[in-house]
Amino acid sequence: MGIQGSGKGTQAKAIAKKLELAHISTGDLFRGATGKLRMKLKEIMDSGQLVPNELTLEILKKRITQDDCKNGIILDGFPRNLEQAKYLEKEITINKVVEIKISDKESIKRLSGRFSCQNCKKGYNIYTTPKPQQEQICDNCGGKLIQRADDTPNAIQKRINTYHEQTEPILEFYKEKLITTNGEKSIEIVKKNILNLLKKS
Ligand code: AMP
Repeated sequence: MGIQGSGKGTQAKAIAKKLELAHISTGDLFRGATGKLRMKLKEIMDSGQLVPNELTLEILKKRITQDDCKNGIILDGFPRNLEQAKYLEKEITINKVVEIKISDKESIKRLSGRFSCQNCKKGYNIYTTPKPQQEQICDNCGGKLIQRADDTPNAIQKRINTYHEQTEPILEFYKEKLITTNGEKSIEIVKKNILNLLKKS
């Protein structure tokens, strides 16, 4: 769990790799949709709103029943409201909930500096790390760096408000399983802190 730009995607991927778990990001699932569904999802996401629960749950259910999820999953970006949290309780056992905390100000700064390669998808941040060596060009493959359509100032503010209003209240629901860490440290330190907290708890 974490406000937009907290690094939850980066950390979820790294920790899933380290612990050999499947990494499932509902945002990535939505961005990977095709056809008419893609258009519908894109419109909702670009405006900074949440995808309706019914559709989110349908897409998630299909994914968590696949073979690679048998040893466990790191969920990234799900649940985002209480109804989703209650649904999840019925489907799987949740061992731990990790909250990565950053301020709204830091979130806006990070999101407005976030770019990724159009070609190979490598992520960059022009205000933090990794910075591309050449402006707007991927270090990896020379591809063009682009911003996510929902990283516009309006959509960023909307997503932050939605997090405070709908997602933050779930932390109380998970208080027994909750691990909280400061996300305003380097990627490596945050990762180390999360792994240590998971070991201890
Ligand atoms: P993310 O990549 O996690 O920042 O998600 C990008 C966008 O996908 C969000 O702003 C929402 O529009 C949508 N989304 C991702 N996860 C969910 C979810 N669990 N419930 C509803 N909408 C979601």
